[in-house]
Amino acid sequence: MNLNQIACHQLKGVGPKLEAALHKLGVFSVQDLLFHLPLRYEDHTHLTPLRFLRSGIRAVVEGTIVQREDVYRGKTRFFCRLSDEHGFLGLRFFHIVKFQKDLLKLDAAIRCYGEVRFGSSGLEMIHPEFHVLDPEHPLPLEDSLTPVYPTTEGLHQRNLRKIILQALLQLERSEVTEFMPFDVLHRFQFPSLKQALLFLHRPPPDVKKNELFHWEHPCQVRLIFEELLAHHLSLLRLRKEAEVLQAPVLKEDRDLIRRFIQRLPFQLTGAQQRVVQEIEKDVAKAQPMLRLLQGDVGSGKTVVAAIAALYAIGQHKQVALMAPTELLAEQHLKSFRKWFEALDLRVVWLSGQQKAAERAAALEHVALGTADIVVGTHALFQSEVRFKHLALVIVDEQHRFGVHQRLALWEKGLHDGLHPHQLIMTATPIPRTLAMVAYADLDQSVIDELPAGRKPVKTAVISNQRRMAVISRIHEACRNKRQAYWVCTLIEESEALQCQAAEQTMRNLRDVLPELRIGLLHGRMKSDAKEVEMERFKSGEIDLLVATTVIEVGVDVPNASLMVIENAERLGLAQLHQLRGRVGRGEKESHCILMFQYPLSELARERLSIMRSTNDGFLIAQKDLELRGPGEVLGTKQAGMIQMRVADILRDAQWLPEVHKAAQIMLDRYPESVDVLIRRWIYENEQYGRV
Ligand code: ADP
Ligand code: MG
Repeated sequence: MNLNQIACHQLKGVGPKLEAALHKLGVFSVQDLLFHLPLRYEDHTHLTPLRFLRSGIRAVVEGTIVQREDVYRGKTRFFCRLSDEHGFLGLRFFHIVKFQKDLLKLDAAIRCYGEVRFGSSGLEMIHPEFHVLDPEHPLPLEDSLTPVYPTTEGLHQRNLRKIILQALLQLERSEVTEFMPFDVLHRFQFPSLKQALLFLHRPPPDVKKNELFHWEHPCQVRLIFEELLAHHLSLLRLRKEAEVLQAPVLKEDRDLIRRFIQRLPFQLTGAQQRVVQEIEKDVAKAQPMLRLLQGDVGSGKTVVAAIAALYAIGQHKQVALMAPTELLAEQHLKSFRKWFEALDLRVVWLSGQQKAAERAAALEHVALGTADIVVGTHALFQSEVRFKHLALVIVDEQHRFGVHQRLALWEKGLHDGLHPHQLIMTATPIPRTLAMVAYADLDQSVIDELPAGRKPVKTAVISNQRRMAVISRIHEACRNKRQAYWVCTLIEESEALQCQAAEQTMRNLRDVLPELRIGLLHGRMKSDAKEVEMERFKSGEIDLLVATTVIEVGVDVPNASLMVIENAERLGLAQLHQLRGRVGRGEKESHCILMFQYPLSELARERLSIMRSTNDGFLIAQKDLELRGPGEVLGTKQAGMIQMRVADILRDAQWLPEVHKAAQIMLDRYPESVDVLIRRWIYENEQYGRV
């Protein structure tokens, strides 16, 4: 019987409620249950004598209660002390119901499971699981390690274990189809899928725990490999779907591009020229380009995007340029107006905040084809936006948009059966391993060279107790005709609070620095007010700009050479790097002061010292990945894409080249297995489809 066809409610004890909870986990069939793999294990197979306990380990222990007391100090409400013949252990409860407290009687023998920590009474467990022992009915120990599964509301870990146990019994009596190519299984001596699944759900007590806990057991590696393979194939499938699509062939209008480049006040860097050539080759094909353009902040991606746009415009086609925030979109609008209006091209603006008449006019230009390039935010997605002949979509700051948003914009450009080319830019460098997993469906270009003459920003880390010293540095800098940013951050997610904090900071700074001209920029300001403030800063009418993290992207004021970031320890490395990238754009030497709230945790100290020691965005991204994990680095939208069950991009990166080879073998020789393998591992949540 095919385990894929047995629905969960056919198992004992699974009623509609449990079934609904299982659906939430993406589990519909017995086979799905088998692929719902443990996150980790607990070891309930043996008892640890109390004298062998150490801080940090998890253990099962037994003993007699020799002391108990209600407590009203700090968080603790109940405390008791356990003893076996040779040692002691404190049990601490922050909340406890009466019936449980009554079980913990003086002289009661109990068994506990929990993590041992060093506390005020010596070694302790906080909120251990416990059972009262009954000499008449000895409580057996487990005979395999206990799996801990990802679960959801309404589905208790214990129930889930019972249900999966039933699925395992079914598995013992049947087979799961192998989809991995035989050569791969053979080359790595992988165990069979059945063996691996049985093992992972119920590792035997004699398993090498070190291997198991580090995900190095062959049964684990086999599943990790298969999961990475499924993910990679799913991206290649997207890619393959794109390859059968048709796109407009764009040839260079040499004169137009030459006129553009001649007007630039600088020479393109070697890296910029190389990337332009890569793009030129792509758009000359009748298949849509799908290219990710990476480059450190300040590496000059915008000019490259502009040249790409000219390939389309030169053939009398249109371009859409989309950015994730109004501010960034406006910055692009300005650059493109400056560059393109000199070439007699029409640049049009579309935003959610725009006046109706202006918007109607813009929409008309887009529809008639008289707009050569449209710049905007998500507003470009909306259904009333109709292009005459869109040939190229440029998306800036890709990591904030999901894969599926990318696809949606693409559909929008569909015209006469032709799909527009896509250029996706990201200012957050993506570590290679992560890019290999998350962007396998895109070709990649990297601008790995900064324009000549850029001076690395010097970064200092300073406690906020020395705020006055920081303020006098600003004073000093601004007196010397330099300009500065003061970036306010807050833990609170609320934008409203962030903006309030920025206003407050601006008032305080105006008090202590009365002779400086201080401006304010935050996300809650009206679009034109932001615009005015940015313009005043750009033209030098403002010395110091107090801002929230809205200035993270796109702001380009070369004369600004000092940046202060408050509470820097709360921001991610990538974000700090983005912010810092706002300075160091001119001739003068630039400085960044990372202010932190004293005292600093070990991790925060490490992060800030990375910022101090390097300006290299790729290096910082790699460290960020190591410290925070892929979900954070890519942004939450993208994280769903790479949320895996057993694989871990960092830990398992060494498998990627082999996984890519195996994927090719499957596509070439076993194409019929590709979809089934993907479906087995990837629960295509409806959420992904939503824009
Ligand atoms: P990013 O890659 O961060 O988007 P931008 O495209 O905003 O960078 O470019 C940053 C600044 O560098 C802009 O002021 C831009 O005009 C300038 N710039 C771009 N390319 C060069 C170059 N080859 N030489 C000198 N300056 C350049
Ligand atoms: Mg940019």
